[in-house]
Amino acid sequence: MSFWKPLLLNCYYYGSYPQRAWRNAQLRTRGRSPVMVLFYHRISDDRANAWTTSNFTFEKQIRWLKGNFELVSLSEAQHRVRVGHNDRPCVAITFDDGYADNCRRALPLLIAEKIPCTYFVSSQFVIDGVPFSHDVANKRPLAPNTPQQIQELALAGIDIAAHTRTHADLGPTTDPDRLVEELAGARHELQELTGTPIRYFSFPYGQHVNLSPAAFQLAQSAGYDGVCSAYGGYNFPGDDPFHLQRIPANGDLIRLKNWTTVDPRKLRSVRRYEYQCQPFAPSSGVSA
Ligand SMILES: [Zn+2]
Repeated sequence: MSFWKPLLLNCYYYGSYPQRAWRNAQLRTRGRSPVMVLFYHRISDDRANAWTTSNFTFEKQIRWLKGNFELVSLSEAQHRVRVGHNDRPCVAITFDDGYADNCRRALPLLIAEKIPCTYFVSSQFVIDGVPFSHDVANKRPLAPNTPQQIQELALAGIDIAAHTRTHADLGPTTDPDRLVEELAGARHELQELTGTPIRYFSFPYGQHVNLSPAAFQLAQSAGYDGVCSAYGGYNFPGDDPFHLQRIPANGDLIRLKNWTTVDPRKLRSVRRYEYQCQPFAPSSGVSA
């Protein structure tokens, strides 16, 4: 399976490439090029789990992205969605959770290359210095970033952002006090730690079931400028700029190429929770 899957994906990618190139050219002409937000978790060559990408693959992906897209900050990506015009496909890079291993090669590479990055961390694990509960449950405890690392990253220009306090699943969470603690509490703790405004929030697990209208509303009242999901989806100029859909970047380069050149199959992904949090009317979205 591990052999056939990339092979089939290669066939699909190159077979559908002319159609993609034509559609992307049309989108560009109309100022509707996609605004893509990628997410990684952990970049490391050891103790790999399903959300680990090797340094070799990560570096290969970054080289390819640099050669094919404008690499922008999450804030710039959001701006392009909000103003309703983008004439060149762009990519923003994000990370979730806050693994210490990312400070070995991946983040220093992005900093050295001046590639913008938003780094979502679950604040309590950083403050307490304990492994993430989901890794403990999988019997693979891995170190979170230290408070000092987060401070140094912020000083180096990495945009630190929130991913709840305890990596909580907010989908089924209905207790308003708990939601406030996870959303506003994480923002407050990270602002205290870094001395910088925390503007963005990403939902742990990030699938449709892990989001909720109440959490979106509380994220807005907690002062976030925007939130990110992780079920896989594109953003187009004119979409709801408060909710930025993200694309999983872990896996082979061919998987990333397939996503970022706009796979027609992925356009069927359903956007959830358009709150029109900003005073711009959402457009018809992705039709080319
Ligand atoms: Zn997470």
